[in-house]
Amino acid sequence: MRGIIDIHTHMFPPDVINNQEKYCRLDPYFGLLCNPKSTLQRYATAEEAIALADEAGIEKIVMQGWYWLDHGLCRHHNDYMMEIIKKYPDRFEAFASINPKTGWQAVWEIERCYLNGFIGIGEMGPGGQGWELNHHGFRLAMETADACKMLVNIHVGEPVGRIYPGKDPTPLDGFYELAKEFPNLKLILAHWGGGLPYFELWPDIKKVMKNVYYDTAASPLLYGGRIFSCVTRLVGPEKILFGSDFPLLIYPGRQKEAGFTMFLEDIKATGELSPEEEQLIMRNNSLKLIAQAGFRATVD
Ligand SMILES: [Zn+2]
Repeated sequence: MRGIIDIHTHMFPPDVINNQEKYCRLDPYFGLLCNPKSTLQRYATAEEAIALADEAGIEKIVMQGWYWLDHGLCRHHNDYMMEIIKKYPDRFEAFASINPKTGWQAVWEIERCYLNGFIGIGEMGPGGQGWELNHHGFRLAMETADACKMLVNIHVGEPVGRIYPGKDPTPLDGFYELAKEFPNLKLILAHWGGGLPYFELWPDIKKVMKNVYYDTAASPLLYGGRIFSCVTRLVGPEKILFGSDFPLLIYPGRQKEAGFTMFLEDIKATGELSPEEEQLIMRNNSLKLIAQAGFRATVD
């Protein structure tokens, strides 16, 4: 398939790539997930990512920010993504890194990113950054995102199973309350929403979650390919967005370097999706959200 949109990737500034140990010391959560000795995290420059995307038929690479604790590090990461979307406007889109605990600073940063063409905020990590969904700074950030028509991506962990670095203990019912409070907000819950799609079988919940989407980032680290058809049956193909978590090694046993192709081949072989479902999940759903998001959409 061509024209794929990957809604969930992470591109790091070159000085983070070149000084990983320093950044592990500066940010304990980055240190936990990206310790060079044990991590599955890999890195790519914009040009490397484009070359791999071309090979895999990926048209747009949507960069999620990172859940840095320090506001200055969030800004630094955003400055880098700003450069990339200016340089390659057809290939990249960006979500802003913020720490909602920084309150108004986070709001001003969202506005700065909004004016510079970012389409969303995220990937936010409540567990990693140490806030809960009812934190006033987070609610303030959501009000800003809502006003700016920016998409929101939140890292969600599943409430069962083994503990691993990055597993987020945030209770799932908080996302239901969030969707209820912000019915127009386009909320993307990463990693299949930690199992939340199951509850959409309950019509009352489905109604509240009408603007909630689920991304497929890092799926092979947790689930087999059948999850694609299962969640499609649960919530409908129009609510699922293809995301890889590139350049994370999502097939650690089989992969030496990060890339997009292995996951795409796996989905083709085991996802059991019809061509129409595939078209929505791999491209159309994200395309529609991007077209309706951010400054360009708000001014029109
Ligand atoms: Zn995540």
